[in-house]
Amino acid sequence: MPERPAPEVNCPHCGKKTPFSPDNRWRPFCSERCRMVDLGEWFNEEKRIPEDSPDWPGDES
Ligand SMILES: [Zn+2]
Repeated sequence: MPERPAPEVNCPHCGKKTPFSPDNRWRPFCSERCRMVDLGEWFNEEKRIPEDSPDWPGDES
């Protein structure tokens, strides 16, 4: 009996198809980055993504 393929979902952050399986620890996101970025939209005061975020609005004084 063949293994049932994991269902695919679209990453809520980038929309990329990603397997919704126990192997995917970031599900339903495609990666840790998407998960963190998505959470960062809620907690961006504390959860900064050090790379790939050159300019955060309202962060200059
Ligand atoms: Zn993603």
